[in-house]
Amino acid sequence: DAFPPIDFRAQLNDEQFAAVTATPGPLLVLAGAGSGKTRTLTYRVAYLLSQGVRPGEILLLTFTNKAAKEMLHRVQDLTGVEPSRFWGGTFHSIGNRALRIYGDAIGLPRNFTILDADESESLLKQVVETEDKLFFKDKTNPRPGPLFNVLSLARNTQKSVIETVERQFQQYSEIKLMLPPFAAAYAKKKHEQGVVDYDDLLELWLQLLQKSPEVAAYFAQRFQHLLVDEYQDTNTIQSQLIDTLAPHHRIMAVGDDAQCIYSWRGADFENIMTFPDRHPATVIHRIETNYRSTPQILSFANGVLEAQPKGRHFDKELRASRANSQKPYVVQVMDDREQAEFILKRLRALIEDEGVPPGEIAILYRSHFHALEVQLALSRAGVPYQITSGVKFFERQHVRDLIAFIQFVANPRNESAWLRIAVLLPKVGEKGAQKIHAVAAEHAKLMQRDFIDALATDDVKSKVSKDARDEWANFCASLKQISDVMRTGKPDSVISTAIDGWYGDYMKGEYADYIDRLEELKALIGFAARFDDIGEMLSQVALMNGETSDRHVEVPPDSVKLTTVHQSKGLEFDVVFVIGLADGQFPGRRSIEAGDVEEERRLFYVAVTRAKNELYLSYPKVATRAGPGGMLLNPSRFLLEVPAELYQELKVRRSYSW
Ligand code: ATP
Ligand code: MG
Repeated sequence: DAFPPIDFRAQLNDEQFAAVTATPGPLLVLAGAGSGKTRTLTYRVAYLLSQGVRPGEILLLTFTNKAAKEMLHRVQDLTGVEPSRFWGGTFHSIGNRALRIYGDAIGLPRNFTILDADESESLLKQVVETEDKLFFKDKTNPRPGPLFNVLSLARNTQKSVIETVERQFQQYSEIKLMLPPFAAAYAKKKHEQGVVDYDDLLELWLQLLQKSPEVAAYFAQRFQHLLVDEYQDTNTIQSQLIDTLAPHHRIMAVGDDAQCIYSWRGADFENIMTFPDRHPATVIHRIETNYRSTPQILSFANGVLEAQPKGRHFDKELRASRANSQKPYVVQVMDDREQAEFILKRLRALIEDEGVPPGEIAILYRSHFHALEVQLALSRAGVPYQITSGVKFFERQHVRDLIAFIQFVANPRNESAWLRIAVLLPKVGEKGAQKIHAVAAEHAKLMQRDFIDALATDDVKSKVSKDARDEWANFCASLKQISDVMRTGKPDSVISTAIDGWYGDYMKGEYADYIDRLEELKALIGFAARFDDIGEMLSQVALMNGETSDRHVEVPPDSVKLTTVHQSKGLEFDVVFVIGLADGQFPGRRSIEAGDVEEERRLFYVAVTRAKNELYLSYPKVATRAGPGGMLLNPSRFLLEVPAELYQELKVRRSYSW
């Protein structure tokens, strides 16, 4: 405990100092990106400790586990207090902790199991299958994936399922009255099995606080101070949790409404606008100096926000504090492939010639698949990289499914490829799939027939589960088409044939984010177009997978980071590349069609404000998937809206030929 006292005055600016040392009560810190909001929160913890508050009396809520850990470590560096002595983490992790200890007050067993997203969906699937007579009369049963999203959004926004359908999922209007009893059946099933899903960690936690005044009083007593980072992204249930946990109103909420990027998960930046209404006598602190970025990057970021239509947001001014440097680069490239080459070249120069640590470089994108070519280029060049969010492209479920179709048609004896695709059929399990394969193999051998043709025979069909028989013909027809195209066509046509076939329909029913996944599969067409031979393509994919899924090969921690913009929030890097800045990619086609690109504009703002020293914004002129002479793209409207004097254009030379 002989830690040196902290000189708060010297390490904070006046605005930060005022917030850090404010008297306890509702505090709202509103400030732009890179102004030290998170730093202020960290110092606030240290300050409270210096005032005699015990670590156990502080509850720290942030958006990601990583951010929470980082913050507690910074507090440890400042004060010497062990991170384990605080309660700090995401809403879900804290909910889990609370429910483990006090959940029995609402009948939850202590050893409850948490279902991950896939497990939740399969439980939901069981409910659909066992109860469909009760709830859904005809064959137009909603699929578990999309259904799960409806229920989840309703729960996170604390709205009824019916209202949620009316507002956002009109495709279920006809069956909306069936959904509440269905949701109840799902809840009952979870209860019977002693399991909870992610949303329960919030919902049951809130229920616990509402139903048990003793537990609520205990929490209010125990957590004398609540600190919340990234407050703009809280959804209704999270903001209710905060309010319920802190009847004493000793809350410090920190946020930037211009960075609200999670409305698709129910985040509502009205929460930040109405915070003062819910917490009377709120003191609002503003911080107006940016410490992160060069003045040129900051001017660009401000330019992005200035293009916002007038609306409901707090006005924020950001002053630069760092020395002048070069303007952000806007880089026009021919296509994804040239973009990847440009990045690779620039990365080498940065790392080898300019001594930038690889871990200080980030490549940011709107959607995972935009980074496919970059992943390929880095893998081939042996540049280690870390994907900090999500799964590598070729490990994505639907990408692997589609590849399995191609692998199977290329070699029908490949049983593992067969197993992967056959179990996608309703009520077909591994055993059943093996049986079908064996019967087809036998038939093909006896009758000297093509394996794919053998699948379509009555012999084989009789081995297929009853529920799958309706789809079986389409399934086989699709395999046949793929096989025909494989004989004569190029690899890219093979892929597009597979997407247009049975699997395309399957995805539509299975995934709520079907459109995004379809886009990703279309990126595969572009990838395939560079090969002459499907076998060559499959071996390249296998090599990529070997490289990425080999868990023994540790990626050095100091590696280049590839991440979606969503997952980059709160982080900062010396050098940032934002790729795929074409209209239709960023902002995405769907938000353009829906006529609302404002959330994506905020996303772009988040992206550019991650950069400390250098910022590269690249846009491809041609969509790769269309191949040579393919679809022309326009630069992102977000680029066009920023005054041209705020950036410089960089032309790259093509170094490969078609
Ligand atoms: P974001 O909106 O992206 O979450 P933020 O407002 O939380 O950003 P921080 O990450 O806390 O900003 O700070 C940005 C950078 O500026 C950090 O590197 C931080 O250490 C530095 N910084 C903030 N305030 C000061 C200060 N008073 N003196 C020196 N450096 C500072
Ligand atoms: Mg922050």
